[in-house]
Amino acid sequence: MTADRYGGAMVCTECGKMTVDAEKQDSGMPEEACAEESAVLSAAEDRRDRMAMRLLAWYRENRRVLPWREDPTPYHVWLSEIMLQQTRVEAVKEYYARFLAALPDISSLAAAPEDQVMKLWEGLGYYSRARNLQKAAKVVCTEYQGRMPETAAALRKLPGIGAYTAAAIASIACGEPEPALDGNLMRVFSRVTRYEGEICQRASKEAAERFYRGLFMAAPAGPGQSSNLYGSLNQALMDLGATICLPNGAPACGACPLSACCTIHLQAPGREAALPIMPARKPRKVQRYTVFLLQDADRIALRRRPPKGLLAGLFEFPMTEGHLTEREALQYVRKLGFSPIRIEDAGAARHIFTHVEWDMVGYAVRVDELAKIRYDSNGGGGDIILAAADEIRGRYPIPSAFRRYREWILNRTGGWQ
Ligand code: SF4
Repeated sequence: MTADRYGGAMVCTECGKMTVDAEKQDSGMPEEACAEESAVLSAAEDRRDRMAMRLLAWYRENRRVLPWREDPTPYHVWLSEIMLQQTRVEAVKEYYARFLAALPDISSLAAAPEDQVMKLWEGLGYYSRARNLQKAAKVVCTEYQGRMPETAAALRKLPGIGAYTAAAIASIACGEPEPALDGNLMRVFSRVTRYEGEICQRASKEAAERFYRGLFMAAPAGPGQSSNLYGSLNQALMDLGATICLPNGAPACGACPLSACCTIHLQAPGREAALPIMPARKPRKVQRYTVFLLQDADRIALRRRPPKGLLAGLFEFPMTEGHLTEREALQYVRKLGFSPIRIEDAGAARHIFTHVEWDMVGYAVRVDELAKIRYDSNGGGGDIILAAADEIRGRYPIPSAFRRYREWILNRTGGWQ
């Protein structure tokens, strides 16, 4: 038998059985407390039965009411899970409703113009998610007659669907016993088992998967239980991680259904937030830009970004590297072959991506006739689009990195003048 070590307990990698490792019980706690703790942990063999039962009972009473849970078809679960990556639940609700109203099924998503999909995604960020969503919808239509495959293994072959999303769809929409290992499940796993390895390592994910597969197998099926046991367990764990076993600050152990069988809580109460062990963060690279709101009487210049790289294929206000002074900005606009009439400070903005941060300053530059602009962005630019206010609102997808400037221009009294 090989075993994974979880703080005070060992889990067999073959059968998933959990046993107590006496060495690891030296938590500096008084002897009586340790004895009491041992008593709890010595019942470890049925621990996951109890965890599963408690989770399911808690979920029946406390589940979050979310629009995508009302009718959990594979398309609905898939769309919501992709939107929820990197985005808060509250922010996703509106996007989800709008997206489904416009593209209610997989075939309508597959057939939509890409700019429509991007516009529906505008503001959610990580736009490759939307592009992959549409690519996968096309594959489902051509290779699966418009029906999503129902196993995690088949789902993972679709563009943009990784292990987590495949497991979420397969379990929630199709009832497969697949643990959906997102940040919530990894955090709960590390605390419940007192797992002290760095949580982002592959070995940690493998250990968590073995642990949860054991938990799923131990779950009580039958009368009174959910008709979709595994979907309910995944969603219970997601909800527990999102509302009780919180990532920042102290988890609400007093309200937790797992508190009587959670290793870190029993062995080191008050120190639960020390887990999971996270990798050291690399500092983000800061890039400085000057953004131009080039406008004539009724239009403004937009440019399509290159087809590859950050914010690929979306629209931006023309920009150049560095922070230009007002005088430099005017020189730059003249160099583009244009005579500016007026320049105005449009303020500073900052946008944080995963690995990079944009530190921007902006200028609104009034020109007499925008069509004369010959824009040269030192080789990095695409076509210039001349857009009216309504088109900026409703047609062209402009990423939230430019929200400050988009709002600035749209909020001016009577539009731009
Ligand atoms: S008892 Fe506390 S640390 Fe343990 S799972 Fe519950 S909330 Fe998380």
